Amino acid sequence: MLLFRALVLLSVVGILIVLYRLVSFRKQCPGCGYADPNRIPRKGIAKRLPVKAYACPRCHNHFYKIREVTQASSNATLV
Ligand SMILES: [Zn+2]
Repeated sequence: MLLFRALVLLSVVGILIVLYRLVSFRKQCPGCGYADPNRIPRKGIAKRLPVKAYACPRCHNHFYKIREVTQASSNATLV
């Protein structure tokens, strides 16, 4: 039972690490911090999400940048 709990904890930590490398709130590579990654076409389910896909030319990391939802909603209230 203890082994099972340890496995669950390990998988949760692993998923969090993968998400940390995969998702960014800034246009900057979350893997190496490169400031000017290339835009790449989104695929699959990402086409339905408000995200932009990037590929880092330095460490070859693919990640998604989440659009700032708070900024977009504040602009809507101003108009
Ligand atoms: Zn990178």
